[in-house]
Parts: sequence; C-alpha cells; structure tokens
Amino acid sequence: MKKADKFSRRRFLQASGAVLAGNAAGATSATAAAIEPKVPATQTAPALQKLLRKATVPVAKGARVVVVGGGWSGLTMAKYLRRFNPAFDVILIDRQSAFVSFPVSNAWLADQVSLDFLSHSYFDAANNNNYHFMRATVLGFDRESSQVYTDSGYVEYDYLVLAPGIEYDYPRIGVEDTEAQNLLFHRYPGGFVTSSELLTIKNKIHQFPGGTFLLNVPDGDYRCTAAPYERACMVAAVFKRRRVRAKILLLDMNSDIKIKKKGFSRAYEQLYGDYIEYLPSSLISNVDIEGRRVETEFDEYPFDDAIIYPPVRASRLIEEAGIMDKYSPQKAANTDPFRYHLIGDERVYVTGDSRSQPFSKGGHTAHSEAQYVAEVIAAHALGHEIQWRSPQTMCFSAVDIDPLRAMSIITYYKFNQQTQLFAFDRTHLIEKWDTQGGQASLAWAEGMYRDMFYL
Ligand SMILES: Cc1cc2nc3c(=O)[nH]c(=O)nc-3n(C[C@H](O)[C@H](O)[C@H](O)COP(=O)(O)OP(=O)(O)OC[C@H]3O[C@@H](n4cnc5c(N)ncnc54)[C@H](O)[C@@H]3O)c2cc1C
Repeated sequence: MKKADKFSRRRFLQASGAVLAGNAAGATSATAAAIEPKVPATQTAPALQKLLRKATVPVAKGARVVVVGGGWSGLTMAKYLRRFNPAFDVILIDRQSAFVSFPVSNAWLADQVSLDFLSHSYFDAANNNNYHFMRATVLGFDRESSQVYTDSGYVEYDYLVLAPGIEYDYPRIGVEDTEAQNLLFHRYPGGFVTSSELLTIKNKIHQFPGGTFLLNVPDGDYRCTAAPYERACMVAAVFKRRRVRAKILLLDMNSDIKIKKKGFSRAYEQLYGDYIEYLPSSLISNVDIEGRRVETEFDEYPFDDAIIYPPVRASRLIEEAGIMDKYSPQKAANTDPFRYHLIGDERVYVTGDSRSQPFSKGGHTAHSEAQYVAEVIAAHALGHEIQWRSPQTMCFSAVDIDPLRAMSIITYYKFNQQTQLFAFDRTHLIEKWDTQGGQASLAWAEGMYRDMFYL
C-alpha cells in the first residue's frame, strides 16, 4: 500500500462511522453528524472493508476524469469531456438510479407534461456518449492519493469534477436541530433537491382539501430564481381547476419579486387573485412543524399544508473536504472564478449550482458552463489554455395551464474589472406569457435532454 493510501484510509476511517449512518438520508447530510452508527461492533469491519476496497469500474484507458453528480452540470461535463478529448476515460457518479428533471417539473405538477417527459436513463447517457456511469454515493475524496470514496468502494482520478448541486440550509430559517431538519424535509419538502420531494408535493396539491397552503421564496442565491414564483402559479392553477377553497400564502424572504416581476405580479392579480396572497420581506425565523406555523420577525402564519424552501448552500462534500472558501456565505469552494479549478490544484474543478461564482443557479447555466469547463480541462491536459466565455442563462416560467402559457429570460454575464464582480450582460426578457412561450419551454427542455442523454 502506498504511503498516501495509508494516510487517506486512516483519515477516511475516522470519518466513516458517521458517514455510514448518515448518508442514507441523502439530502440532509446535516443529520449525519448527529446520528451514532448503529452497526454492531462485530459487523463494523466487513462493512468498512466494503467501503475501502477499489470499486469495480473498467480499467482506465486514458487519463481518468471522475465527475461527481449526474445533474445538468455533470451529465453535460461527462459528454463534452469525451468530445473535446476522446483520450479521456470518464466516469460519472450519481447516487440516483435515474434522472428526473427539475426544470419543467412545475408544469408537471399541474399535469402539463408526463413523468416520462422528465425522466431519463443514466445508462442511455453513458452508452450514447462513450463514458461510464457508476451508481454510488460519494462519501468524500482525498487529493493527496487522488481517490474518490463511495459506498461501492474508491475510484482513482487524474482529474476530479465536483458537480453535486445544492443542499438546504435549514439553520438559516431557524431550524438548527438536525432531527427537526429531517422532519421538516420529509413533511414539508421544498422540492428543489430530490425527486421524491416532487412526488410528495404533487400528491399534496392534488389532494389538498382546502384551507391555507404556504409556499416561500428563500433569500440569498437560491436555486432557480423564478421557480418558486412559478410554482405558486402552478399550485394556484391546480386549486383553481379543482375548485378548492384555498388561500396560497407566498412568503417572500426578499423585499420584492426577484425576477419577471411585471409578469408574475400580473399573473397573481389577473389569474390567481382569489388564491395567491403575496407577502414580501417575510424573513422566516422559525418553523413550528407540529403546530404548523411559520414565524417571521413580526408575524406568525398558521398553515394547513406547506412547501418550505429554505435558503441553500453548496454541497457538504466541499466543506468536509476542507476546500471551502471561508468567506463564502453559501459555503462554496475556493476556486478560480474563470477556470473553475481549486486555487492551487488544477486537477480538481467545481461546477454547476455548487460553484462559487454568483451565476444564476439554473440548469441551462450549468449546461453551457459545463461545455466551457470541459474544454478548459481538455486544454489543460494538452498544456493549452482557452479564453473565458460567459455561461448563458435561459429560464422559462409557466404561468397558466390548459394550454400551457409561459414567459422567458435569456442572459449572459460579464466581469467588471473595477468592482471585481460579475454582473448581468445582454439580457432579453419576455414578460408576456403566451402559448408560444409554453411550447418553447417544452421544446427547450427536449433539446436539453437530447443533448445530455441521446446525441
Ligand atoms: C422546480 C425547479 C424548476 C427549475 N426550473 C428551471 C428552469 O426552468 N431552467 C433552468 O435552467 N433551471 C431550472 N431549475 C434549476 C436546475 O434544476 C438546477 O440549476 C440544475 O439542476 C443544477 O444542476 P447541477 O448539476 O449543478 O445540480 P443537480 O442537477 O442537482 O445535480 C446534482 C447531482 O449530484 C448528485 N449528488 C449529490 N451529492 C452526491 C453524492 N454525495 N454522491 C453522488 N451523487 C451526488 C445528485 O443526485 C444530483 O443528481 C429548476 C429547479 C427546480 C427545483
């Protein structure tokens, strides 16, 4: 065994007790630290050995790139790494066995597309684009030994791309206790991290008997700026179609509608005036889960059912690996803003919604960015550099159903040398919702799925 192996395995063993017990919870790894491992002492060694062996993956035929996370960023990354450098041997790892799209899921909540439309196979993506897919949960990684640890053993890398998306940051709405976080996550899921949350939300709104249904918009740089406002429209549309006597309380932790303000305000007034009550500057300070009450600084809001979307943070994998930027409010990695690699390590990259740059956390952003970063890595392997280019953000928002009507925005980013900050550039906003927008949103999604899974 190499010296680095010994070192990393010892460190990994120290951490793995909590990880073993905690990662089953998936999205709320905050629970991991709180739960003591329940594995009997006699079984601990075989269970850990399983984690510490080399994973069964094909022998690398070239420089191995391990991509962690098969979302919009990781899927695009795996495909384009092979396209820009066919000599790369790429493994994409995801803990899920199938992909379910979050974009267009709000329209699915209101029956405008089927679950088939949103669901795609990782096997198809890997077979069609000549890389390997490994279904496993990544538990951590060690940069000294270049190993990624998973619940199916470890994988070695030459380059590592971390694209594990976001996690909920429940303490930011006053829910500190990890058991309470877990309960809140399961009972009133936000619907922004796992597909089970979406299924629960759909059941909730289609079975809601009437009363107060609470939704919220988080503050900070949360996932998909328009999606919570869009979701309020889709929930209201379902209640309207079902003729349920319901009030949707939309508590916005921001001082105003953050995007497509004219369009959403008009929809709330003209289409859903009897349903949606929009309350800006509602900073949630606590949630009484059993008592079904949300507290803000000045008020309390009782509810009958709810979708609670807390502010978000970068994946805990980043913090646990000690690569977090200590000044980052969302616990993102300390990376080069133009090349995406860790400062001081050009073999490890962070992309997608876990990135440190303030680009909109969107699937389209992650997709266009991953094409660029794949090219950066391919060039690095050949000793070249390529010029920075901005990601593109494109976001459709469904407003009305039967037929589907939507509005849209496209934007780019530029770096301001004076302020040393990124800002929006070349924005095209359509706030008039219509059926053309609705059809365009579905055509856009189909094109994205085709690119990530089939061509
Ligand atoms: C309701 C909703 C509507 C949206 N609408 C739009 C839209 O209209 N347009 C748009 O552009 N974007 C939209 N988005 C945003 C978009 O879904 C995200 O920005 C996008 O998914 C980010 O891609 P990602 O690859 O960074 O993260 P994800 O797509 O979340 O992928 C991360 C992957 O990493 C995996 N993973 C995480 N941790 C581990 C681990 N430890 N081990 C193994 N695997 C792991 C996860 O299983 C997941 O598959 C919407 C999101 C939501 C929730």
